[in-house]
Amino acid sequence: MADFQSAERPLNRKRWTRQAGADCNGCKSAIRQSETLRYNRQNVRLLSFDIHLDSSPKPETLGCGFANQDQRSVCMKVSISTSVHNLHPDLGLKKAFTLIELLVVIAIIAILAGMLLPALSKSKYQGSRSVCISNIRQQHLSQMMYADDNKGRFPKHDDPSPDYHRSPATGAQSIVNAMQGSYVPNSWILICPITSKSFGKLWPMYRSPSARDPGYGGWDTKEPHVYTPYMWLANYPGMRFVSLSGSTDPNALDKEPAWPNTAEECDSSRAFITHRISDTPGTALWDVGHLGRHGAGTQSKPLWAFSITPDQPVGHADGSVKIRPKSQIKKRAVGAAGGNTSYYY
Ligand SMILES: [Zn+2]
Repeated sequence: MADFQSAERPLNRKRWTRQAGADCNGCKSAIRQSETLRYNRQNVRLLSFDIHLDSSPKPETLGCGFANQDQRSVCMKVSISTSVHNLHPDLGLKKAFTLIELLVVIAIIAILAGMLLPALSKSKYQGSRSVCISNIRQQHLSQMMYADDNKGRFPKHDDPSPDYHRSPATGAQSIVNAMQGSYVPNSWILICPITSKSFGKLWPMYRSPSARDPGYGGWDTKEPHVYTPYMWLANYPGMRFVSLSGSTDPNALDKEPAWPNTAEECDSSRAFITHRISDTPGTALWDVGHLGRHGAGTQSKPLWAFSITPDQPVGHADGSVKIRPKSQIKKRAVGAAGGNTSYYY
């Protein structure tokens, strides 16, 4: 057993014991002392490294403790002084943190972040999806209440596309005019939370996000054209429904069930509320909601190329909501203004 004495004035009254070949218990004892030293002097930090900073003729790396200046050595089992130069000015270590310490900390943070972030983003999406499902249910209720009060009929919906709730074609008879402030008391149920990072955050008072087409806006505006991230399918005329094999043959056995025209037709097989994923030849793709964003690219890429979530909810006419994964989202209807826009859900 040998004794070391610190070179620092406040420390040199203490004697630091180093045990050659010390076992863990011996180390712990010394660690405690060096921790004390750190708190007292702010000049020693602990790391779990074996380190031997030494200029002595006979270094001993086993054991714990601090060498004194006379022996010109620092032998630490678990201690690195980040300001070792306080003890040994001629070692030339000036920085408060060594590069290795910094890298270790960064690596640990990166590992923790890598473990936590996917879980966080997944649960965040599930929260958004819950809000979306709640929105769909409330929109379903709104429409059914309206139909109840109007002999089972829904408002006029002869707009350019099922996501329009008003257009010059419907005007005063439009969904917006018929339901604003009454059957839809809270306009925010009309925005899917997934869009809230894009045009949705201005909802419902936004005007056309592109600014190239004035006259388009959100539910609470006076714009002649009003649309939302959700398509309302009921009472929308002139659609051709596509079978799962891609056929629009009206007699195809696996044809997509038609959208309901009246409340009486609102059964579980028919789609009722979807997000807008549509493709009009010669225009930009629309892919709002869970699978993309406003103005999502071009026809040279599949609609899903812009997908930001793995699935999206589809509201059915009986009020049920199904989560449909990306792989099951297919072209299910063709029509609307111009007659050749495809709708996917
Ligand atoms: Zn949504």
